[in-house]
Amino acid sequence: MTLLPVVSRCASYPFIALINEPTARHKHAITHHQGFIEGLFLSGLGDAGVTVERPCRPTSLELSSSEDELKDPASYPVKIVLEHLSDAPGTHSFEMVRARFLVGADGAHSWVRHTLGIPMEGDSTDRVWGAIDFTPLPSSDFPHWRNVATVNAADAGLVLIPREDNKVRVYVELGVANEFEQDERGRPDTSKITADKLLDISKRAFKPYTFETTPDKVEWYTAYIIGQRVAARFCDQGRAFIVGDACHTHLPKGGQGMNVSINDGHNLAWKLAYVVKGWSPMAPLDTYEAERRK
Ligand SMILES: Cc1cc2nc3c(=O)[nH]c(=O)nc-3n(C[C@H](O)[C@H](O)[C@H](O)COP(=O)(O)OP(=O)(O)OC[C@H]3O[C@@H](n4cnc5c(N)ncnc54)[C@H](O)[C@@H]3O)c2cc1C
Repeated sequence: MTLLPVVSRCASYPFIALINEPTARHKHAITHHQGFIEGLFLSGLGDAGVTVERPCRPTSLELSSSEDELKDPASYPVKIVLEHLSDAPGTHSFEMVRARFLVGADGAHSWVRHTLGIPMEGDSTDRVWGAIDFTPLPSSDFPHWRNVATVNAADAGLVLIPREDNKVRVYVELGVANEFEQDERGRPDTSKITADKLLDISKRAFKPYTFETTPDKVEWYTAYIIGQRVAARFCDQGRAFIVGDACHTHLPKGGQGMNVSINDGHNLAWKLAYVVKGWSPMAPLDTYEAERRK
């Protein structure tokens, strides 16, 4: 990618960047939103005859401590109870599953990680970020709406990602979490972070450029608390794994979270498939943590 010469506190990259890596199969980067990508995976699973059961949550987990059982790839050392949730009367049920392996892909607050007693390590400071999707009016004079851009202002750092249909996503760095007013749970009170507030901060940061939008052109916004951390282990007893946000959390600046998470899944999935199909001993599974945690 080429860094364009723009105002000194703003960096901008062409949205559809030319990728110069000689081995790259596709020469352009394209942005798709996460719901679209998740839809592709669900559709691929459906084509392979796999149905994702929702809503469903685990309520208990036991992992055998028997060395013999853990060493035998054909054994079922994982015992997990699933609760199938439903609003329909009489359909709420529990199911006990015996499994050879468990993969916890249950996000930043991972129940699997907590249950396995795996701590998170790294940045002890959480930060509060806002994100807002909107369409700027044509009168806006910021020249880089259709590029990926970062803007650094005195009171906020912004990251701008162009989206489909002339929309943009702006990430707004709002500050250190423990400097916010706390709510009754002792967490930063994000209830006062409104779409208007995120737009006001963005407008100040964009100066001397200006932009306007209208309430009907604001599609979505959120405020969330995040720190940069990594799990102390990605695996327990060679049988229970965690992937994605369950084992690492990132600030949104690099747009890494989902990409890194997909790579975790890819790294682990083919190794699990080889072991489960009996094509390989269990040894390659040890390389998952070594390759993904470094
Ligand atoms: C506002 C925002 C913007 C982001 N933008 C980007 C971006 O531009 N690029 C990027 O790469 N990443 C981005 N990320 C990060 C990205 O969303 C995450 O890194 C990614 O979703 C991680 O995927 P995951 O499958 O590990 O976890 P999740 O997407 O969090 O999925 C976890 C799943 O597990 C389910 N679950 C959790 N607990 C339980 C339980 N006890 N029982 C049953 N199910 C459970 C949840 O319902 C959810 O479906 C963004 C994140 C946020 C918050």
